[in-house]
Amino acid sequence: MTKLEVINPATEEVISTLDYTPEVEINAQIDRAQEAFQSWKVIDAHERAATLYKWAELIDNNIDELAELITLEGGKPYAEAKGEVTYANSYVKWYAEEAKRVYGRTIPANTSDKKILVDKFPIGVVGAITPWNFPAAMITRKIAPAVAAGCTIICKPAVQTPLTTIKLIELAHDAGFPEDVISYVIASGRDAGELFTSHEAIRKITFTGSTPVGKKLIQQASESVKNATMELGGLAPFIIHSDADIDAAVEETIASKFRNAGQTCICANRIYVHQSIVDEYTKKLTAKVHELKVGNGMDEGVKVGPLINSDAVAKVLDQVTDASTKGASISRSLDDMTALGGNFLRPVVIANATQDMKVMNEETFGPLAPVMAYDDIDEVIRIANDTPFGLAAYFFTNDYRTGLKFYNELEYGVIGWNDGGPSAAHAPFGGVKESGYGREGATEGIEPYLETKYLSIKQ
Ligand code: NAP
Repeated sequence: MTKLEVINPATEEVISTLDYTPEVEINAQIDRAQEAFQSWKVIDAHERAATLYKWAELIDNNIDELAELITLEGGKPYAEAKGEVTYANSYVKWYAEEAKRVYGRTIPANTSDKKILVDKFPIGVVGAITPWNFPAAMITRKIAPAVAAGCTIICKPAVQTPLTTIKLIELAHDAGFPEDVISYVIASGRDAGELFTSHEAIRKITFTGSTPVGKKLIQQASESVKNATMELGGLAPFIIHSDADIDAAVEETIASKFRNAGQTCICANRIYVHQSIVDEYTKKLTAKVHELKVGNGMDEGVKVGPLINSDAVAKVLDQVTDASTKGASISRSLDDMTALGGNFLRPVVIANATQDMKVMNEETFGPLAPVMAYDDIDEVIRIANDTPFGLAAYFFTNDYRTGLKFYNELEYGVIGWNDGGPSAAHAPFGGVKESGYGREGATEGIEPYLETKYLSIKQ
């Protein structure tokens, strides 16, 4: 049988070898999840909530081991990986509460002898496919609301980072979730996508990943009219207006742009700074960026780990070369950027960026901060919206009228005002346009796992 080798992107060593789940077993697992759904959906919400709380407790107790797995298989600096586990667990805790708040309602009928009752029911078996960049959080954002709603779920983690998922699901079983209520498969995305979308027992696909793969899954899921939630790619604009607090904006840029070495879907991808402050901002940003320690995420003080693999490195270097050819100033030479070798890249600021550069139009997923000057507020909003993507956008201003104009006119699902880290379990995360549909987090995040049914009673 073919084996999956899990590779540490910092050392490029194989850290684990796993068996792929055979196709026949994946289908059998979906059948078992369908059987388990019949008994899980009738467990009362308070018991589901208690099991989620128990899982959350076990995750807290195992935070060090989980963080180490995230660092070893994904490269994320250890302190940041611990932050991810806490963040991932905040979804488990949130949906332990929301499980108890799936309310129905009554509707006044149009004749006095009738009553209409509305109820929410779990949708059924869920197939989940997740990326490598947040191996804990992307999985709990799906599992926790699904099981809180009464669904069963089968997860397909990214081949680069299956170990975190396996550990989280083992802890879920230790907490009392039956094995067929929450399970995982080891498979390529293509295989899992085909099996999940073609199996009639699966009633919902929930996907986090790139837009091209999302589009393919939407097509496949449409064959049997499966409900789908799509958390797809981004190209976040990060706008700093003339009246902004420049030091605060620099701090938030670092937080937004360099988390996970720039490999997040809501990362600042393109930075637009008002021309009256662009020189001061770029100078301050470059000084801070060059202070960031790069290295193995297990080493003390490292802020920027390796990229996930050599393809990711090549994509980033291509964007740098393209920007340089088109007249931008790069804060480090290519030799300096790549001096650590392997999958490591020293972060850079790209000054004098222009809108025709690849870095302003393609999701970067790497430690590059391109800065372009703007003059007119309407023009920067137009440029910010001139993309098929609509996940996250940021703006910095201390003027409320300017702020409300940005908020009202930016076509994005997640917006940070003087805030480079807007994501939270209690807020509805998700995109518009080709960044997807559906929301994860908040009250909205359980809705995708529920169906509405109503009863009309005649006396
Ligand atoms: P990706 O290539 O789309 O992979 C994501 C997942 O999809 C992986 O599990 C992958 O499986 C699977 N996959 C690949 N091809 C497939 C197919 N034909 N059918 C079904 N599944 C398939 O994305 P990535 O490079 O891992 O992750 C980065 C992308 O995710 C970025 O675009 C980022 O913006 C986006 N993202 C979005 C959010 C959000 O909440 N909106 C959050 C995080 C990341 P393998 O294991 O075989 O690769």
